[in-house]
Amino acid sequence: MNETNKGLGLEDIFHFSCHPEIDCFTQCCQDVNILLTPYDIVQMKNRLGISSTEFLEKYTKKLLAPQTSLPAVQFKMDEENEKRCYFVGEKGCRIREQRPWSCRMYPMDANESGTEFIPLVDSTRCLGLKDDTVWRLGDWFEDQGLQPYNEWNQMFAELIEDEKLTSWRKEYPGAADIFYLACYDLDRFRDQVFKEKLYEMVDQPSVDQDALKTDDLVLMQFAFSWLKTVAEREVRQ
Ligand code: SF4
Ligand code: SF4
Repeated sequence: MNETNKGLGLEDIFHFSCHPEIDCFTQCCQDVNILLTPYDIVQMKNRLGISSTEFLEKYTKKLLAPQTSLPAVQFKMDEENEKRCYFVGEKGCRIREQRPWSCRMYPMDANESGTEFIPLVDSTRCLGLKDDTVWRLGDWFEDQGLQPYNEWNQMFAELIEDEKLTSWRKEYPGAADIFYLACYDLDRFRDQVFKEKLYEMVDQPSVDQDALKTDDLVLMQFAFSWLKTVAEREVRQ
């Protein structure tokens, strides 16, 4: 059993298995608060074959932090189906390969520095924590495919913590909307990049315009650099 409040490190072991035969199967995919990251959204909208704009409209709610004018994107639950996730089915997650970071981590949660982990719920709610299957925590994270999510989320965290960008969002009317567009609504941002030749603003000798047109991750990296450049230019010292 894994009934300790002590944080676990990557080398520690824990008991866990989640499968359709378990009584709580898919219960954690209902009435849950999940914030989506830019990388989550790219993965899901491409899996569904829809634009970021359509994805955001259908499946998310936009939030705004009053102190920092930081926009955030919350996964919407289906109000007409007992607040279940739109993507849960009898056999589990229907977009499992592209499920968001939070779903991959569940039931684990990280401390602020990301060095220790603890289950968000106990084994009375997540029966999988009572299972006999033993994992080294680091191996379980790898099995959940967390690595690219962690890498992109780290880049996004640096953007969120950027003081100039925070000042820019707070001081300039419309800046929070631009931040939201560039981070979350990449397909609409792409239109702006080419309409307004935004690639000419970023001090990179070779912005690959073909890649910006076709590769969402190249575009996302560009979006992060472009936002920092804009804040750098517009915010007074
Ligand atoms: S509560 Fe735990 S065991 Fe049950 S479905 Fe969710 S992750 Fe799996
Ligand atoms: S995306 Fe998949 S794993 Fe995440 S809440 Fe929805 S159904 Fe569950």
